[in-house]
Amino acid sequence: MAASDYTALTPVLADALPDSGPAELQCFVCETCNVQYAPSATPPPGNCPVCADERQYVPQSGQRWTTLAKLGSGHRNAFQRMEPQLLGIGTEPKSGIGQRALLVSTKEGNLLWDCIALLDGATRDIVTALGGIKAIAISHPHYYSTCVEWSRAFSAPIYIHTKERAWVEAVRPDAIAEHFHFWEGDQQPLFGGLSLWHLGGHFAGAQICHWQAGAGGEGALLVGDIIQINPGCETVGVMRSYPCLIPLSDATVARIQTRMARLPPYRTVYGAFWYQVMKDAGGKIEYSLERYRKWLSIDDPEIA
Ligand SMILES: [Zn+2]
Ligand SMILES: [Zn+2]
Repeated sequence: MAASDYTALTPVLADALPDSGPAELQCFVCETCNVQYAPSATPPPGNCPVCADERQYVPQSGQRWTTLAKLGSGHRNAFQRMEPQLLGIGTEPKSGIGQRALLVSTKEGNLLWDCIALLDGATRDIVTALGGIKAIAISHPHYYSTCVEWSRAFSAPIYIHTKERAWVEAVRPDAIAEHFHFWEGDQQPLFGGLSLWHLGGHFAGAQICHWQAGAGGEGALLVGDIIQINPGCETVGVMRSYPCLIPLSDATVARIQTRMARLPPYRTVYGAFWYQVMKDAGGKIEYSLERYRKWLSIDDPEIA
């Protein structure tokens, strides 16, 4: 049997090959942002493109790669019921950026909003018992994580705004045709009273989700960090980069205000992290964006 014939064998048999045999392909995961890349025999060359972008960072200690299997040996997922039809799923101890995903249940199926890297057997069993996943939608590239693994496990398409297509091409060019659904325009209805809304700002294609039945039928918003809920959960901020403190222009914030004004009513806003739950949210985002624009325009010698 020629050495090249081994490439068609299962990974188990390939493992038994001598070192000179063909290397097994793996999907490497960036340790800093937890985004998973297309299969390769060795870690991708250079830095993770998501972390090398000015909105993220490569740690001082340098780029590090892991795999989903390695993540699973040192981490587990925690689940928390946020409201009757909304389950938070987050990894402990913290992995990557540390966001938690949200599983929204509707009579027409479940939506996974944003994503986390760790998809282990227990998580699979729990989500399956809750009805699986009908669709996945992710606010922006920082939370892509292992969305292709989730998409494959639950046969669920991943909804991304078309203005983010270049990021998907940079991260998972191998999986675009099979797993990603790009949408255009201001709004994309999903199912069960869920709809995606293009907001921009942090990323040109950034999207948020409106859930009609959320907050006891008064409406909820799932915003990732496209709108960042501040400590205390009474105000929000919007920025091009949060870790790297890059602001947005007045014109961009004004555009976000206009886009927010088109949304259906909502009472609760869920951010990307466990503590980020803004209750009685009416007016709080509008107030915060107005405050932001005020400070962009103030030129006060007393604070200069
Ligand atoms: Zn990264
Ligand atoms: Zn982000």
